[in-house]
Amino acid sequence: KFNFCAGPAALPDPVLERARDELLDYQGHGLSVMEMSHRSDAFAEIAARAERDLRALLAVPDNYRVLFMQGGASSQFAMVPYNLLGTGGTPNYLYTGIWGKKAIAEARHLAGAHVAASSEANGLTAVPRPEDIVLSSDAAYLHYTANETIGGLEFDYIPEIGDVPLVCDMSSSILSGPLDVSRFGVIYAGAQKNIGPAGLTLVIVRDDLLERALPNTPTMFNYRVMAENGSMFNTPPTYAWYLAGLVFDWLRHDMGGLEAMDRLNARKSEKLYAAIDASDFYSSPIAMPNRSRMNVPFVLADETLNDAFLNDAEAAGLLNLKGHRSVGGMRASLYNAVPEAAVDALVDFMREFERRHG
Ligand code: PLP
Repeated sequence: KFNFCAGPAALPDPVLERARDELLDYQGHGLSVMEMSHRSDAFAEIAARAERDLRALLAVPDNYRVLFMQGGASSQFAMVPYNLLGTGGTPNYLYTGIWGKKAIAEARHLAGAHVAASSEANGLTAVPRPEDIVLSSDAAYLHYTANETIGGLEFDYIPEIGDVPLVCDMSSSILSGPLDVSRFGVIYAGAQKNIGPAGLTLVIVRDDLLERALPNTPTMFNYRVMAENGSMFNTPPTYAWYLAGLVFDWLRHDMGGLEAMDRLNARKSEKLYAAIDASDFYSSPIAMPNRSRMNVPFVLADETLNDAFLNDAEAAGLLNLKGHRSVGGMRASLYNAVPEAAVDALVDFMREFERRHG
């Protein structure tokens, strides 16, 4: 069966098979990774290898710290303002969908938030163009959501904003292709899409930004404390960290790295959008340059067929195609672990369904 879930998402079969083989006895240590002390040499090696592979995949520059945190991307909505407002200024945000809106709401708990550009006027179907972004004169940072998972809206560029730190929620697009990390102040991502199991949150932060936390920042929210303690100020999510390491290893050594993933992800999403565009039976509302490669929402012209579509898809082994409850319709998430064969099977199914009902 093929799993198109938006998250927690499919994990690569080779990763799950390796985890199964190592579940009870990790490489002769006589215990499971789940049962190991996070201070043990064996776990220290697992943790360091995961970071090494991630740094290699994304070519993370030396002046960036990689943090393995908890609390999901939603906790980062609060951690970002806590960590970056200590030297004053106003948080700036781009609003392109539901996740960005939640990030803005969280910043507003702590400080005012300035919306520097918004997709509201076009119904969240296109991201603002670079010339539409107007920062406040005292911008502390600019936050945006690289890929809005629910709306299926993805930035086709990285905003250029001079010295103001750029903060990006990459929960649903990180590792889908190469990335110039040096353009960003902070990158964060919940793990449960392209990284590993839920429970782990990845943060990549430029080291000069570790000195900007508000004095009342809770210790567990403080990037500097996390960086100084190797993400082990408390007990980290050890098993999720280990599985993320297996995913990084798979991407690097089995899949050929992020350039190869980039080509594969382009091919997968282009095939599906081509099928959607090929008929009036299906449609996508998103502007061409901003169509997400990871989350492909689409609607049936006749919405009374939605239940039949989902039931028949499930019977054909195509799982979790229902759109988010807030927007309806369908959504196929095509993360790294979703093979091209899954897209081929979905496209075949869509054609056949249209033939029967069109
Ligand atoms: N940001 C984006 C872009 C997401 O897709 C999600 C979850 O789907 C979140 C934030 C929230 O993540 P979490 O559930 O890890 O808090």
